[in-house]
Amino acid sequence: MSVKAVTSLTNPTVKAVRALHLRKERDETGLFVAEGLKNVTEGVELGHAPQVLMFGKDAAEHPLTRRAVAATLAAGGEAIEVTHDILAKVSRRDNPQAVVGVFKQRFTALDALQPPSADVWVALHRVRDPGNLGTIVRTADAAGCGAVILVGECCDPYSVEAVRATMGSIFAVPIVRASETEFAAWRGGWPGSVVGTLLTAEVDHRQADYARPALILMGNEQQGLPPEMAALTDVNVKIPMRGRADSLNLSVATGIMIYAVG
Ligand code: SAM
Repeated sequence: MSVKAVTSLTNPTVKAVRALHLRKERDETGLFVAEGLKNVTEGVELGHAPQVLMFGKDAAEHPLTRRAVAATLAAGGEAIEVTHDILAKVSRRDNPQAVVGVFKQRFTALDALQPPSADVWVALHRVRDPGNLGTIVRTADAAGCGAVILVGECCDPYSVEAVRATMGSIFAVPIVRASETEFAAWRGGWPGSVVGTLLTAEVDHRQADYARPALILMGNEQQGLPPEMAALTDVNVKIPMRGRADSLNLSVATGIMIYAVG
């Protein structure tokens, strides 16, 4: 296989990549889109070869594009040089990134996690906002967390918005999905502490003892942690707030907790 040039928006590969903006399509194909040479290079370096690689003329000679092309073709994928118009349609942006990769989604099973392998782990209950989720994955990567566990019905970690916000960390951090019931059962075998975060908690997050490994449980953007989830923890803590804001943004609160506990 070699690199082909594509100029038509009706090209079947272009149509298939555009369709990955829809969750239904991502769920059915198990694929997702990562935009930008940095994101694509992260994927390639961590052993995730693109199934499709699209790039504009300007990026064609970049050494990292060449490396991504080689990885794509070696894995039997399709590498195509496309027009600016196609990149703009695929990214839904007037100023698109010059390189776009399509990768296979990866989810890790709850039972495959090795709690002693990291000091801090993150669980998100019913996270709704893809920007929050992507930012949390990026922070979890930066801090060396073991995984991000999505509990209950959550937004898609492989949506274009979430992947954009991870800045490449989507390839580095294990992502786990679990129902509330599965999480409750699995949590019973957790060897360290499970730490809930609640606006109404009495314990200041700086005062709690966090036995390692610590699993931080964060609530949903609107409702926070419901009582049945808060009951699964060893301790529930609050991050003190001194001004008029009634809560912190979920990704900010998660970042504070990851670094406070870690
Ligand atoms: N109205 C929601 C509530 O009553 O919890 C606000 C949710 S807040 C935007 C999203 C999540 O961030 C919360 O469920 C909690 O996990 C965390 N969070 C935000 N501010 C916090 C704080 N000051 N202390 C502890 N956790 C906080």
